[in-house]
Amino acid sequence: MITLALSKGRIFEETLPLLAAAGIQVLEDPDSSRKLILPTNQAEVRVVLVRATDVPTYVEYGGADLGVAGRDVLIEHGGQGLYQPLDLRIAQCRMSVAVRDDFDYENAVRQGSRIRVATKYTGIARQHFADKGVHVDLIKLYGSMELAPLTGLADAIVDLVSTGSTLKANRLVEVERIMDISSRLVVNQAALKLKREALKPLIDAIGSAIPSA
Ligand code: ADP
Ligand code: MG
Repeated sequence: MITLALSKGRIFEETLPLLAAAGIQVLEDPDSSRKLILPTNQAEVRVVLVRATDVPTYVEYGGADLGVAGRDVLIEHGGQGLYQPLDLRIAQCRMSVAVRDDFDYENAVRQGSRIRVATKYTGIARQHFADKGVHVDLIKLYGSMELAPLTGLADAIVDLVSTGSTLKANRLVEVERIMDISSRLVVNQAALKLKREALKPLIDAIGSAIPSA
């Protein structure tokens, strides 16, 4: 049995065409089914649905043989024990710093003020501001980051941006791009050895179906 860990939403949706190219069709729709284990048209391949941030953990400890996870999640997790053979170029976005439209970020940086930053991505944020030599107080959040500057919880957020419409709707402006993000295929290293005969062709087929840049 090969177990593939995916998160619901855009990663699931955007992984489907890559699986199709490998001859795999998921037989149930996660939005209408309550099942967390989804069968595929191949009896020996199944999909497990986990939180996006849990994908690396499932794959690291062998709860899944492989999975799809955002670069954001992989950096925060550390990626230990994971083989990362493919950038799938799906779920593309960027990690950015955003502030309320009336907050003068450049000035705060120039003045050397301490900046309060709310984020789910404390590892990436800490590294980014340390590299810039900017003093920050990091506030860990688990969602709705956009709310933090609006309520006075923080001066800035570090979050994922794609079109920028969520920022705009909340009177926030992007002031710095930290890195480009896309999702990657991650594989359990032991599984890659033990199940190589099944995994290698699957990885190759997925690789051939990646959208070009
Ligand atoms: P959750 O809400 O559980 O954090 P999401 O579906 O929002 O999960 O995000 C899962 C992954 O999809 C993220 O780790 C990131 O790599 C990617 N992602 C998140 N937001 C966007 C976006 N706006 N555009 C493209 N990819 C995104
Ligand atoms: Mg989200």
